Amino acid sequence: MNISKRPSPTTPTVDFDRDGIQHGHLRLPWSRDDSAWGSIMIPICVIKNGEGPTALLTGANHGDEYEGPVALFDLARTLKPEEVKGRIIIVPAMNYPAFQAGTRTSPIDKGNLNRSFPGRPDGSVTEKIADYFTRYLLPLADIVLDFHSGGRTLDFLPYAAAHALPDKGQEKACFDGVAAFSAPYSMRMIEIDAVGMYDTTAEQMGKVFVTTELSGGGTISARTASIAKRGVLNVLKHAGIVSGAPEVEVTQWLDMPSSDCFVFSEADGVFEPLKDLGEKVSRGEIIARIHPIGRTGTAPSDYRAAMDGILAARHFPGLIKTGDCLAVVATLTGGP
Ligand code: CA
Repeated sequence: MNISKRPSPTTPTVDFDRDGIQHGHLRLPWSRDDSAWGSIMIPICVIKNGEGPTALLTGANHGDEYEGPVALFDLARTLKPEEVKGRIIIVPAMNYPAFQAGTRTSPIDKGNLNRSFPGRPDGSVTEKIADYFTRYLLPLADIVLDFHSGGRTLDFLPYAAAHALPDKGQEKACFDGVAAFSAPYSMRMIEIDAVGMYDTTAEQMGKVFVTTELSGGGTISARTASIAKRGVLNVLKHAGIVSGAPEVEVTQWLDMPSSDCFVFSEADGVFEPLKDLGEKVSRGEIIARIHPIGRTGTAPSDYRAAMDGILAARHFPGLIKTGDCLAVVATLTGGP
């Protein structure tokens, strides 16, 4: 990683070392037409009580994913410092400009925060946010939980996830965190393109890193909101920061064994799923069709599973374009 030594222009209005609860902001200067010396104010909450580990909790790394913000605004409002041993840093909406706009990427610079790490203090607004997390927040953390969902264009089975890592001790600690989160599904996850991700930056710094994909479609359900709220408290209990044992539910472990689990569209048209999320699929079985929309009488193109497993993710909108991720098949396993 090429990490700058130049100071960040971002200023926190909270003191990370003070006991008690503080609701404040990360103030990031953004000079523009309607506010010459204006700033982006990213909400942050710090809850600290004595000595103990630090958890860094984040949502809306992508701005159109809502389980994280709902669970984290709720946690920041309800958790009391006396219930905490150690420190919790809560940023419900990391890419705050994208979250305000309801879009995956930032409306200011089109920055995809989860492809902008480690970031730059002298870069775009999105790169400045990434840099602040890399050099100022991640070093404070022992355990990191970053909430994702599918956003407007993908839908997922609700799962918590971690990655295979070269350090097997660190990898085990990450999967212990996934198990503690206790989503209905738990995934050993691979990435299409891990360069520039918050995940990769945190993992390379040796942090215990847990992520999620909790449905999607650019909205939230009662079920996934409750999974997120229970999951974050479970991770805090697992880390010893909140007392009590995690509320563990049965989880189905899944694996993404190779890039064959991703199915990509090679046509434009209207998307017809032949399998729904959670359904079993066999290798070679047709899981979706794309119908051309220019005229009648034209055959659809078929898309098949490359492995046995279950449908773990799918394209969400009704229309699909060439190159879109159409589906993800995951294999059923007994554990990480
Ligand atoms: Ca995401």
